[in-house]
Amino acid sequence: MTSPDSPNPANNSAFRESVAEAAAILAGAERTVVLAGAGMSKESGIPTFRGDGGLWTINGEPPLNQYDTFAMDPKRWWERRIEEANSPGDFALAIEAAQPNAGHVGLVELERMGILAHLITQNIDDLHRRAGQRSITEIHGNRYWMRCVRCEARWPKAEFIFDEADLPPRCTSPGCGGIVKSDTVMFGEPIPPSALRRCGEETALADCFMTIGTSAVVYPAAQYPIEAARRGVPLIEVNPEETPLTPLAAVVVRAPSGVALPAIVEAVRAARGEDA
Ligand SMILES: [Zn+2]
Repeated sequence: MTSPDSPNPANNSAFRESVAEAAAILAGAERTVVLAGAGMSKESGIPTFRGDGGLWTINGEPPLNQYDTFAMDPKRWWERRIEEANSPGDFALAIEAAQPNAGHVGLVELERMGILAHLITQNIDDLHRRAGQRSITEIHGNRYWMRCVRCEARWPKAEFIFDEADLPPRCTSPGCGGIVKSDTVMFGEPIPPSALRRCGEETALADCFMTIGTSAVVYPAAQYPIEAARRGVPLIEVNPEETPLTPLAAVVVRAPSGVALPAIVEAVRAARGEDA
């Protein structure tokens, strides 16, 4: 985030140059894939987990066996979850209150312009969908969705009606009947193979890769930009901070997504207009 006393990066010539370079790459690419991370959510007021002031930095990391606890007694897990829904914590309240920001809107614009082919997001807060993003893999799930642990079918929570007296809820896909849980990927829970497959396929097809607001330290998400860069695909990094990916990046835009993306969208439009 830009602090109030730091100069607006939009007035900075290094920022403008990096935006122009990023836009030139994007305008010339056929299939851009984006990996988005917690920095984008933070700009919408959602606390991060890691780093200074992160929830886990302050409170400690949650138990690594979360998924085992669920799998051993899903009925109990669901009972607790229904109780907790009546007294949401600070993180839940922050997500409920959050709105998509100019960065989310910028990504939707890039998709509508035919530039952004696919978005891989580590964020679970639904803000990309609410902004209008269509081609998206939520690699850590979406807290407003539910998922069958057996067949990986997913439903928006509002559309999945179940009997709280008959827990855990069961999958309604024909012939499945698997246990249904929140779509958010728990500690110790494997990321759904269908999500990993899609990310791998999209990354393999990408001719431009952009990371936004992610420190790219969490695997498997971090592997996609690295794979792309190793193939010689230009990597664009949008992040106010240096990250382990910075040395691989062809262009680095040192700004929050809410500042960088609108400027990039405008510059891509200009670049395309000049080409036409
Ligand atoms: Zn199922």
